[in-house]
Amino acid sequence: MKVDDIISYTKMVHAEGANLQRGMNYGTRKGYSIFLMSLRKNAPYADAIDEKTGTLIYEGHDQPHYAGGPDPKTVDQPLQTPKGTWTENGKFFRAAADFKSGLRKKPELIKVYEKIHDGIWSYKGFFELFDAQLIPSNGRKVFKFYLKPVEKKILGRIEELPHTRLIPTHVKVEVWKRDGGKCVTCGSDKNLHYDHDIPFAKGGSSLTAANVRLLCAKHNLEKSDKIMSVLPWLYVGAETAAHFHRN
Ligand SMILES: [Zn+2]
Repeated sequence: MKVDDIISYTKMVHAEGANLQRGMNYGTRKGYSIFLMSLRKNAPYADAIDEKTGTLIYEGHDQPHYAGGPDPKTVDQPLQTPKGTWTENGKFFRAAADFKSGLRKKPELIKVYEKIHDGIWSYKGFFELFDAQLIPSNGRKVFKFYLKPVEKKILGRIEELPHTRLIPTHVKVEVWKRDGGKCVTCGSDKNLHYDHDIPFAKGGSSLTAANVRLLCAKHNLEKSDKIMSVLPWLYVGAETAAHFHRN
């Protein structure tokens, strides 16, 4: 799977071999955890992405609603369950604290999927959990988890460029609707990917729906091959590419 691939909820659950009913899934798979996020207007939690740094700020989750109990949005997000075990908030909070104190050498690795549309998700890649805070918000306390994107080495594949993580959600939603959830070249609705024009080849265009489109895996790959033949210098490194993208 590549960053900005589009995947149905069913396929996502199948690909992870895990029941992803919850948004926060600590240690679900060997070696990594999973966060499901949403930046949509009606999203239940206030997740956010700093588009300059790529830092993901993921909000912790509320306690479940108990019959006769308070509205979960009015009480502090819990660190522990009533039985005294750690909630998902607690597990991730502890992982961040242990990393900051040096108790654990490596940060928790978290795979992130973002909701684009009902039943439609976009893969955002791997992130590292480097900090967590419990902060006041609307008269209660909520957790905020800070994640930075893992910058993989570029292995001759355009999909690994870090800027593709920065296609804003409103652009993704607009593109999804405009292109009807299909590859603009062949109309396939399988293995879709958000394809972004190389901005510096076009004089540095910003990320708008006009330069993003849906392509299937086959047509995305054909495009990557073409770009590689004309822009070999692009593969100098992620930093260089990110620099050109931002400036
Ligand atoms: Zn196609």
